[in-house]
Parts: sequence; structure tokens; C-alpha cells
Amino acid sequence: MDIALSPESLVMVPNNCLYCYSEIDVKSFEIRHSYGIKACFKCYVYAERDSNAFMHREGIIPVDYAMEHNTLKDFTNVLLEEFHVKRTSGIIEIGWTLDTGSKLNRKFFVYDMATKVWLIPVKKNNLTKSISVYEIMHNFPQNTKYLAENAIKVMNTGVYIADAVQHDRVVNSKASFTVEDDSYDT
Ligand SMILES: [Zn+2]
Repeated sequence: MDIALSPESLVMVPNNCLYCYSEIDVKSFEIRHSYGIKACFKCYVYAERDSNAFMHREGIIPVDYAMEHNTLKDFTNVLLEEFHVKRTSGIIEIGWTLDTGSKLNRKFFVYDMATKVWLIPVKKNNLTKSISVYEIMHNFPQNTKYLAENAIKVMNTGVYIADAVQHDRVVNSKASFTVEDDSYDT
């Protein structure tokens, strides 16, 4: 399959595979509610690749994915317990936990391109917001700080890097059809 796609709104989209137009066992691979890629069973693997590549480009990691990830789950497990956050303003806020979201309202770790810092969604009663991973980590007990450090390392490397590379390879091989190929000159 030499097609690479990007997620799109799935509202009112016919129930076809977006890769091969088949209608057999079509499933929606959703990034968030009603936004993703529809694929038939033969193309699930491409939908997964392209969804992951998209999340890599956007710098987002679903919290529900992180909670299952080998390294990241050690970090999210700590965040499921109440913790306090000392903001840069000096104010100490107590009683926050990780915001795990829901099926209809998926939550993400988001890489803030401007500050180059991962933002973590947190909640307290009905309040929700995102806090820098460093502000959260600052208050981790000394013996658990490495869990946050490991998580940051993994996130900075990119949990979807392999799929992003595959996706780009397909996109670039398509693009090369339209430019002159001089790789046989020698
Ligand atoms: Zn298909």
C-alpha cells in the first residue's frame, strides 16, 4: 500500500475504507471523538501507522495510551494519586490528579512547541487544566523523580517515531514521482 493519509473529521463520512474504499469490516481509528481514519480490516495497519504519525507530528500522546505504555505507565501511576503542585508563582495547590478523560473526551500529553515542554492534563473536582511536566515533577518524592525523568526522555524521543518514519517514507516516495530522479547518474 503506497498511500499515506492524515486523520480527518469522520462526521458524515461514508463507511468506506479511506485507503481502498472497501466496505468490509470498516473500523474508525479515532484520535479524538469523530476525528480519525476509517479503514477496512486489510488496512488497519496503515490507519494505525498514519494515526501515530499524525500524533508524532502534532506532539500529542493520549493519556489512555500512556497508561498502557511500558515506561510511561510508571509515571502515570504516580499521577493517579493526589499530588500538590507548586506553581511558578509560588502558590501551592493541593489535591490534583491526572485527568484521564473519557472515550468521548480523550485527554493528551501535549508538547508545547513554544516552551519545548510537555504539558500534562490534570483535574481537581470539576477543574481541569494542563501543567508543565517539570512543575509536577518538582513535587515528586526524591525517590520517584527518575520516573518522571524517564517519561520525559521517552516522550522527547517520540513514542510514535517508528510509525512517523514509515509514514514519511510513503509520503516522500509519492513526492519523488514528480521530481527528477538522478540517483542512477553514477
Ligand atoms: Zn482498505
